[in-house]
Amino acid sequence: MSGFDGLSWAGFLRRPFAAPERVREYQDRRVQALARQAAARVPFYRRWFREAGVRAEEIGGVADLKRLPVLNKTEYARGKAEGLVAEGTDERRCFELYSSGTTGERVRILRTRAEEYTLYAHRLRAQMLSGLRPWDVRLRIGLPGHKTRAHRLGVFRFEFVNEELPFEALRAEVFGKHFDILGAKPGLIELLLPDWGERLRGMKLKRVFTGAELLTGDLRRRIEEAAGCRVVDFYGAMEVNLMAWECVRCGLYHFCDDGVCAEVLREDGSEAGPGEAGRLVVTPLHSFITPMIRYEIGDVVRRAAGPRGCAIRFSTIDRIEGRTIDYLPLPGGRWLSPIRLIETLQNTPGVRRYQVVQTAAAEIEVRVEPEEGFGEEHAGRVRRSVEELAGEGVRVQVRVAERIARPPGRKVKLVEAWRGEVQRG
Ligand SMILES: [Zn+2]
Repeated sequence: MSGFDGLSWAGFLRRPFAAPERVREYQDRRVQALARQAAARVPFYRRWFREAGVRAEEIGGVADLKRLPVLNKTEYARGKAEGLVAEGTDERRCFELYSSGTTGERVRILRTRAEEYTLYAHRLRAQMLSGLRPWDVRLRIGLPGHKTRAHRLGVFRFEFVNEELPFEALRAEVFGKHFDILGAKPGLIELLLPDWGERLRGMKLKRVFTGAELLTGDLRRRIEEAAGCRVVDFYGAMEVNLMAWECVRCGLYHFCDDGVCAEVLREDGSEAGPGEAGRLVVTPLHSFITPMIRYEIGDVVRRAAGPRGCAIRFSTIDRIEGRTIDYLPLPGGRWLSPIRLIETLQNTPGVRRYQVVQTAAAEIEVRVEPEEGFGEEHAGRVRRSVEELAGEGVRVQVRVAERIARPPGRKVKLVEAWRGEVQRG
């Protein structure tokens, strides 16, 4: 095995700068091994390969993936009944993760310690390429998980604040810490901005890392102004970890090509060309316990129009559209955070599932799939709580639906902005 294959840290760090053909060879080897593992040890895939009329040995690399159908989240989640975990896995020794839950279909992922650390290394490398130095202290505001115990000694130190804390407590915790780099969802940073100008300037932040939701151009400017440093956006998903990150050299997003094999597909399933948008389908290259082959993330991304002569040679996209949750642009230049909406609606009694659609600049429709006993009083409570978040001048309507319509093969967007004026980052 060459250094390229990851035996050495130096080889791993050099990979983003390697010739694309070498990266493709690496992807081919991983895809080949993944197909064999899935077909041999995972019951769901055994059937899936059989129904596709493909033998695992016929998958020699990335190009052969096209012989298998794309798998959407719903189909994948259904595979649970048959078995999505490799047979013979000692599940007690694995990390267990669930996809965010913002789509209504939770997907359970298991990873070995080695797999999880590999993905962590990919993320760390992307952060280093974005300006992180080993002695920098990062503060992450996020959801607690197995890696969130703050690490305060040695290098790559980080502090952690649970984003589920009541806002006042969250603010107090964040203000009480000292750090060089802040990592959080843009919506949370936005909530902290009003009181934060002074504090951020005093701290001389190096970078702000964002991720997990849409970063609008407007919000990016406001954060950069308040923080006095650059914002770098990371694009990931719980199922895959890091998929792409924004490059501080060329300004495009690079796919993490040695962590994930990414396909951008036109409606007819063919590969989108430069400058073209398409559905993002990924095959994580380091998930052998719960393999995901040609897994449709549910987002639309756009291939970059052409190379920008960047030293980093991983493939590029220049736009991420249709993340599963949107910011709602409101009259008077205000934005409504999707996270606040989700938090509110998730905790409203009587609501089984919901979707928030901004139908006009100042109109929000809340679609509710009710639980038994949902009545006028519940609907009123939903309306009032969303009105409170949206503020003056915004009309809120609650519509009770037996079932929230799902576009075929797509995730339901829980929070959907009005397309008329939405500004994309
Ligand atoms: Zn670049």
